[in-house]
Amino acid sequence: MKSYREELFFETSTRRQFINITPQVEAALKKSGVREGLCLVNPMHITASVYINDDESGLLADYEAFLERLVPQQGTYRHNLTGEDNGDAHIKRQVMGREVVVAITNGALDFGTWEQIFYAEFDGRRRKRVLVKIIGE
Ligand code: ZN
Repeated sequence: MKSYREELFFETSTRRQFINITPQVEAALKKSGVREGLCLVNPMHITASVYINDDESGLLADYEAFLERLVPQQGTYRHNLTGEDNGDAHIKRQVMGREVVVAITNGALDFGTWEQIFYAEFDGRRRKRVLVKIIGE
């Protein structure tokens, strides 16, 4: 069995941002040489998410509005009593999830129609890592 590990780096210019990272994951898959297997993608941080959905700008704006309504940045969070200001970002990450696992078939990510891998940043403006781990043969 082959195993491949790569870290991707992101530094957003805004506090929250959604980035389609499918091209970077596909590049990692190519480097791995794996034709049949599984690909795990997760942020190495607890205020960011990796999820799969459509790359459609209206939907991304809908996520932003939904999450701000549910967990406003300016809300009151006990976590912020520690001196941090990112209580909202931790909860937004829980809502949007931690990781994705994608099947690899014939050397390609085996997506459903319109599926794309996104990195969702909820406390950005600093350098953050995303792990790509690929196993198979
Ligand atoms: Zn925090």
